[in-house]
Amino acid sequence: MDQYQITILQIDLADAFRRCQFDKRGAEMPDNHIEISSPHCGEPYLLTPGPLTTSYDVKRAMLRDWGSWDSDFRAMTAELRARLLAMLGEGQDEFDCVPMQGSGTFSVEAMLGSLVPHDGKVLVLANGAYGLRAAETLRYLGRQVTLLDKGDYMPPRGADVAEILADDPAITHVFVAHCETSSGILNPIEEISEATYAAGRKFLIDSMSAFGAIPLEVANLRFEAMVSSANKCIEGVPGFGFVLARKSALENAKGNAHSLSLDLHAQWSHMNTSGQWRFTPPTHTVAAFLTALRSHKAEGGVGARGARYRRNLEVLVAGMRALGFETLLDDRWLSPIIVTFFYPDDPAFVFDRFYALLKEKGFIIYPGKLTVVGSFRIGCIGQMDENVMQAVVLAVQDSLTEMGVADASPPQQALAERSRLLAEMNE
Ligand SMILES: *Cc1c(COP(=O)(O)O)cnc(C)c1O
Repeated sequence: MDQYQITILQIDLADAFRRCQFDKRGAEMPDNHIEISSPHCGEPYLLTPGPLTTSYDVKRAMLRDWGSWDSDFRAMTAELRARLLAMLGEGQDEFDCVPMQGSGTFSVEAMLGSLVPHDGKVLVLANGAYGLRAAETLRYLGRQVTLLDKGDYMPPRGADVAEILADDPAITHVFVAHCETSSGILNPIEEISEATYAAGRKFLIDSMSAFGAIPLEVANLRFEAMVSSANKCIEGVPGFGFVLARKSALENAKGNAHSLSLDLHAQWSHMNTSGQWRFTPPTHTVAAFLTALRSHKAEGGVGARGARYRRNLEVLVAGMRALGFETLLDDRWLSPIIVTFFYPDDPAFVFDRFYALLKEKGFIIYPGKLTVVGSFRIGCIGQMDENVMQAVVLAVQDSLTEMGVADASPPQQALAERSRLLAEMNE
């Protein structure tokens, strides 16, 4: 492991030099002039899309205790809501921000259970686990669902939506995951939004793993509500999620919720009158998140955060391809959130061993979720920059050598599957 820290350090020096050059050129100095340091306690980097590697500042913000009733904490809640709303850009005054305790799924459930009326019907566009989870949630809630299941990774298109909505006037809402984190695909939410509103329906977005890094502004995209959480692209720690919803939708949500604790309208109105969360808030997580939000702003906001992640993606994918690996998706559909790579064909490749070897070297990756061929995933989000991604590629290379894998090329079957997919996508 020491060996890899040295590697990172060497690349850091090169980067420091590059940054100095930027400084000299003044005007060309990027906004995202932030320092990325390796995990403070020597823990591995989490190349997983939440929880992810957070900065030391974010962790340090959790060392203080806060009284949930106290005005200091109420001010923190107000700042958090205002900063999240500001990220929606012009037109944000028609929206409000409702934080909700729990992991991201709790906020998705709160959004669906509160904003979809009892007689509503939701078209769920699924191309992975998170879309399917939303459909399952709606079934739990006793709401009517039409599921368009595109399989492991095919993107749902605007034309699909238009056709289904034209055939079924009972559908009131359309739901999609912005980045479907199970494959890493970035779904085409613009065309889905257009098709939805052209048919007079309402659009709900799970932007859990994209918000904060991929632009989502109300001036450019029409939607009713979106949901994200503390431990994704804002780079906070787990503990709560938040819904950014049209005020009109929140007003109409009264009495819809199936659940006391997940009642978005109740949480919203209580917060607006008292400044407090209804039940015990995750105070330390909120403090950490505020620090993360300030860092997000200091880095240059959504544009700069997205650019760092995109650079992470480029360095990772170029390095992995040089080793012979292939991505599941064509460049057009790759997201700067997480990337799926096929297993190498070489029988010496065993995923569990590969995982353990990478962990030894300081990196935790994710198993894949494809049903047809073997795959694993590497996340690009969190307190990591291109230097870290280069170190990841080196660690992958050394792990392959240790396993005796000479060539990381995937099996023919994987490539055939990908060609089939590409042909279908381009239809
Ligand atoms: C992370 C994530 C969620 C929420 O998952 P939790 O485990 O509940 O935090 C939901 N949707 C997407 C697309 C995600 O990436």
